[in-house]
Amino acid sequence: MKKVSILGATGSIGQNTVDLIRRDPKAFDVVALTGGRNVLQLAQDARDLRADIAVIQDDDLLPQLKDLLIGSGVEAAAGADAICDAATRPADWTMSCIVGAAGLAPGWKALEQGATLALANKESLVTAGPILLDHAKHHCATVLPVDSEHSAVFQALVGEDIAAVERIIITASGGAFRDWPLDKLESATLAEASSHPNWDMGQRITIDSASMFNKAMELIETKEFFGVRPDQIEAIIHPESLIHAMVGFNDGAIMAHVGPHDMRHAIGFALNWPKRTELPVERLDLAQIGALTFKAPEAARYPALQIARTVMEEGGLMGAAFTSAKDRALDAFIAGDIGFTQMAPVVDKVLNTMTSRDGLKNARMTLDTVQQTDTLARRRAAEAIADLR
Ligand code: NDP
Ligand code: MG
Repeated sequence: MKKVSILGATGSIGQNTVDLIRRDPKAFDVVALTGGRNVLQLAQDARDLRADIAVIQDDDLLPQLKDLLIGSGVEAAAGADAICDAATRPADWTMSCIVGAAGLAPGWKALEQGATLALANKESLVTAGPILLDHAKHHCATVLPVDSEHSAVFQALVGEDIAAVERIIITASGGAFRDWPLDKLESATLAEASSHPNWDMGQRITIDSASMFNKAMELIETKEFFGVRPDQIEAIIHPESLIHAMVGFNDGAIMAHVGPHDMRHAIGFALNWPKRTELPVERLDLAQIGALTFKAPEAARYPALQIARTVMEEGGLMGAAFTSAKDRALDAFIAGDIGFTQMAPVVDKVLNTMTSRDGLKNARMTLDTVQQTDTLARRRAAEAIADLR
């Protein structure tokens, strides 16, 4: 039996992982499940999957979690430290799918077991990619990508030499506002930005798809994970979202990964790796689909992509500043404090200020400096947001 833990079990990726594990209970022994605030879902899954421990991030919910788990034999705990402790309980495979910066520390701890970390939490790679991957190497741990584009690249690279790769092309749906007139974007509402044309995902990542901040993060994630140069990485709009990524080789061949809109494919690939096992996802009917289309992303519609280029070229702590500034700007958009098109200028301003005034470029990357950068970038973003109001 494979011992598995899910950090962020109550979320969109977490629930898809739970679904795959639930289908094959004899194959998996569940160690730890963690959640943020959704105590009912956490308790129900911990009972059903007979987890050793369930951890809720919000301390106030511990009494309720304990009540819900009475008689189940599942241990209950709460708080960010308890999530990190649960991540160190021996498991062969851990899914890292807490959203945002909160996912870094538990994933870091899980790596210390020297087992496999399935990494959905893209913020970990964008903010701290070089030290995270060094940490994995140091502990002989394996990191497998779960983001669909990166899983696709990983699969296209099986048996290939990375030195023969000329370029990596990740696809983007174009998000909710792909076909909107540019001058209407300014008035885009939260509800409009929260509806994705192809994928059913958490709210934050759905809004990040509309602004392409999600794709911007994925460009950076590609650089960190596969170790290629920024100029080898491209994003292309592919409205059907059936090709998830392509790898172009030095002999002119392009390997494309085609699959349905279902995160259980990428999650299942990481869960079963290095084998492939049957997965409960749709089989595509290509004749019915008929055509796959592509177009270049317009710079004016998606300023986040240019910001990602700067971040990739500068490297270092720029990724941490970028993620935190983006997160803060997204909070402000969700709260109704700024408009949809004001998010990118806020992030841009933070990065400019932090490079010129805070000397970001020369700082060494450690977990502490990543944390300091996070705090500073959030403060600078709050200032930039206040200036707009
Ligand atoms: P969700 O918002 O659906 O779920 C996030 C999970 O993290 C939930 O379990 C939530 O708990 C938990 N959580 C939130 N805040 C904290 C915190 N401070 N401490 C501990 N746990 C917390 O997100 P998604 O599942 O959509 O995304 C998860 C990650 O995977 C993100 O990094 C995202 O970018 C990435 N990803 C997602 C994809 C998708 O299809 N959804 C595709 C590719 C990558 P609760 O709900 O109980 O409050
Ligand atoms: Mg993705």
